[in-house]
Amino acid sequence: MNVFEHLSHHDYGQVHFARDAATGLQAIVAIHDTRLGPSLGGCRFIHYPHEELALVDALRLARGMTYKAAISGIPHGGGKSVIIRPQRQFDRGALFRAFGRFVDSLGGRYITAEDSGTSIEDMEIIRSATRFVTGVKPEHGGSGDPSPYTALGVRRGIEACVKFAQGRDSLEGLHVAVQGIGHVGYWLCKELNDLGARLTVADVDPHKAERARREFGATVVSLDEIFSVECDVFAPCALGSALNDDTVPRLRCAIVAGAANNQLAEPRHGDDLMHRGILYAPDYAINAGGLVNVAQEYAGYDEQKSRTRVLGIYDTIFEIAERAKRAMQPTYRIADTIVEEKLAKAAR
Ligand code: NAD
Repeated sequence: MNVFEHLSHHDYGQVHFARDAATGLQAIVAIHDTRLGPSLGGCRFIHYPHEELALVDALRLARGMTYKAAISGIPHGGGKSVIIRPQRQFDRGALFRAFGRFVDSLGGRYITAEDSGTSIEDMEIIRSATRFVTGVKPEHGGSGDPSPYTALGVRRGIEACVKFAQGRDSLEGLHVAVQGIGHVGYWLCKELNDLGARLTVADVDPHKAERARREFGATVVSLDEIFSVECDVFAPCALGSALNDDTVPRLRCAIVAGAANNQLAEPRHGDDLMHRGILYAPDYAINAGGLVNVAQEYAGYDEQKSRTRVLGIYDTIFEIAERAKRAMQPTYRIADTIVEEKLAKAAR
């Protein structure tokens, strides 16, 4: 594995490795950028077929965190960690304590949080070894489940798009097709239903789609049909790459605005949306509500402040849409430009 080649490809930065023989810990902390503040990002605890994949995962995700933090105006840079899940038997408590000591040794340049494979209980164990951790229990200053905040931010992003593209201030009667009614999708449906929007939904899990039908009067369609629903807004809230060569030509919406990460299979699909006259709310800008909330936790949790900041996602998305129209460029590129301007300014 050529580590430095990977670092330059992802435009780094610092990467820290830790091994603890006693617990079997093998961990990587990738710190992409700290110009706007200490890096913040989740800790993944999953199997990796080989360690190069773990490194690339950390590098890619930490870079994404820099962009998400910068666009949402929080005083943090981008970081991410991975713990390679041991093949042999391990003591979870000892492993996460060792990881906590590793995070602590970085002196606050990296603050960790929950991610795939980790839980609030793991964050509590990490907390016994370092204060540079978020996502702990509410009685220890934790901010709880991020999903309702992510959904609130997405709803605000949808409102900004609707105002920009249709000149409307209200979501009353707006038709939104939501793909994926999981943690965020469910709360998004609730937000939209409360404001009078009409919903069409699809989920791999029929119980989740059925719940949306029961609670919000949503129309349920198949996993395939959701892409071609004639609607105002298509909201991808499932997995990544929902916008690809197969799906973009089938969309019959004016706006794409949802919670999923990495919605564009490739950047060119963002260009494609623009050419089709579809306004796309860049994923990392519209889905930052959970991150904004967790960052508030690190500053000393204040629910009202957190909510106010998340509501501000409206302004971010509106600004991106305006600049994109003026520059005749796709919105994803404008979002990147805004971040790069902020980082360059902070470096001076
Ligand atoms: P989740 O796993 O709770 O929900 C995803 C849902 O999508 C599940 O109900 C799943 O059954 C469904 N699904 C999977 N494949 C599907 C398909 N092909 N068609 C329709 N439905 C499908 O995850 P979540 O926490 O709700 O996150 C959703 C997305 O938002 C993810 O991409 C995640 O990375 C992103 N995101 C989440 C948060 C957060 O606060 N949870 C924050 C930022 C971004």
